[in-house]
Amino acid sequence: MNNNIDWSQVRDEVAGYLQDLIRIDTTNPPGNEALAADYIARILQREGYRAIQTESAPGRGNVTTRLGGGGQEPLLLLGHTDVVAADAGHWTHPPFSGDLADGCIWGRGALDMKNMVAAELMVMLLLQRTGARPDRDVIFAATADEEAGKGEHGPGWLLDHHPEQIEAPVILTEGGGHDVVIGAARFTTCQVGQKGICRMKAIARGRPGHGSVPHDDSAILRLCAALAPLQSAHLPLHPSATMRAFLDGVAAGQPESLAADLRAVLVPEQSDAALGRLPIDADTRAQWRSLLRNTASVTLLQAGSKINVIPGEAVAWIDGRLAPGATQESFLAELRQVVGHDLDFEIDQYSPPLEARAEGGLYEVIVSVMQRHDPAAPVVPSLSTGGTDAKHIVPRRPGTQVYGFMPYRQQPGLEEMQLIHGHDERTSVDELLFATRVLYDVVTNYTHSTETQ
Ligand SMILES: [Zn+2]
Repeated sequence: MNNNIDWSQVRDEVAGYLQDLIRIDTTNPPGNEALAADYIARILQREGYRAIQTESAPGRGNVTTRLGGGGQEPLLLLGHTDVVAADAGHWTHPPFSGDLADGCIWGRGALDMKNMVAAELMVMLLLQRTGARPDRDVIFAATADEEAGKGEHGPGWLLDHHPEQIEAPVILTEGGGHDVVIGAARFTTCQVGQKGICRMKAIARGRPGHGSVPHDDSAILRLCAALAPLQSAHLPLHPSATMRAFLDGVAAGQPESLAADLRAVLVPEQSDAALGRLPIDADTRAQWRSLLRNTASVTLLQAGSKINVIPGEAVAWIDGRLAPGATQESFLAELRQVVGHDLDFEIDQYSPPLEARAEGGLYEVIVSVMQRHDPAAPVVPSLSTGGTDAKHIVPRRPGTQVYGFMPYRQQPGLEEMQLIHGHDERTSVDELLFATRVLYDVVTNYTHSTETQ
């Protein structure tokens, strides 16, 4: 397959798209993703695609296109063009420079996720140039507003206002694809699920009064007392199907004692001790602990306005994250076991936990394509503590299978996954080409594309 593609030329071309995209400042807020949408639309149109641009709000641009195919249900390649803010003072190369140095392209979005947008764009161009005849439509959407607030201007908005542009039962986007090392073995992740979000206010009420006359009904002290147990309490273990498959996957072929510890992570009374014995760093250990249960982080406090007034109300904002299987109700019930019944909860934002199938269909194609490209790093399904645009899509279209897969082999010493949203975000050009080749094979295999040119 793809014998007639000149991959060294593709390397320069896709690197150029990524550099150009980084140079378009789409810091969200405010976003200004229309500038990126214009750029992508021009390239698509130059190559014979029909690009459709929409604005969900002034400057919040989305662009979609479609390669027509056979009668199977479409595949959507999805990427967001907005990025988080960057503090230029901390960068070796300016964050919107797109500089090429040390084999890397530098800049905000190099890993999250203008790299994948560039690779997906390149795949669309290659399909067109090779005259591919897929057995289904292949849709590409570069959308706004993933990184900030409630994400109201991206794919969710498109589904509400122009569903015909992006509706697809199977979606490939960001999330997994990077490799992980456990013991002597290396694995490639494919993100199939993400935790849910339940953000809320916890409100304590008491008796207002004068600061000179303390009493025993202070809202602030009530709030502090209720929240204090969160310091040491872990909510109960809820291993999801994805975490079971992940731990099974990374245990396969490992020495028996390591494999036993990996399996023991799923057993409630053994989980924490087993996690402590695993050859993983402290950040990864904390990550896995969170992936196995619901979590509640207190992130904001609001109470009082004058030094000499005891306020009648005190509020803590709680960033709750739900393991697959949990609901708003089950999460609140667990939380009450820890913080008691003295607080009122007001939900501010909710999106359910999501899990796609780690078998069949696109997942199986990803496994087999990676088996050819990197046989030493078998694919394992992964769950994320954070969210992708899947949270705007699956609740609107239940059953949609969303996979996060941007292939990336981490370079020793670079620790790319720490650079996401951090200073000096950059991506290796070699890995950008690797990802483009893998994604091209994933799309052509999944859609049984035959080249005609
Ligand atoms: Zn992202």
